[in-house]
Amino acid sequence: MAIRRIVTRGDDRLGKKCRPVTDFNKRLHILLDDMKETLAEAQGAGLAAPQVGVLRRAVIIADGEDEVMELINPEILEQSGEQTGPEGCLSVPGKWGMVTRPNFVRIRAQDRYGEWFEAEGEELIARCFCHEIEHLDGHLYVEHIDHFLSEEELEAYYQELEEEE
Ligand code: ZN
Repeated sequence: MAIRRIVTRGDDRLGKKCRPVTDFNKRLHILLDDMKETLAEAQGAGLAAPQVGVLRRAVIIADGEDEVMELINPEILEQSGEQTGPEGCLSVPGKWGMVTRPNFVRIRAQDRYGEWFEAEGEELIARCFCHEIEHLDGHLYVEHIDHFLSEEELEAYYQELEEEE
């Protein structure tokens, strides 16, 4: 396994529509393993192949319990509800913005061997599904915001959250 360089906003590859994965071979497995190592090192919630410069429809999402979901050729099947919260991206380092996403998302995707499966998630996982799948069509979350959050705004948000609990 190897850590790959994460490309950042401004790099052309982040604006391209990625092609489907058609070969579920060793090369794909190495890519996914490298992406996992890269995500762990960067301590991110998710990573899409174009973020390491590979224009194929593959993403990984950390579920917060040491498990990493691999989604090849993922598609959103169903979404409902709404959530608004701070969102960041490893390709836009050190910045955050408030993004509204569906609160529930159901997807289908293939695993590294080409088997189709369905998965669903709420809150953070639903947000990750949307964020990562958007990457595959050349979109970044920054397209949904009017400004990056200041330290104060971010702090105020988390303070409010704590007070609610
Ligand atoms: Zn991202």
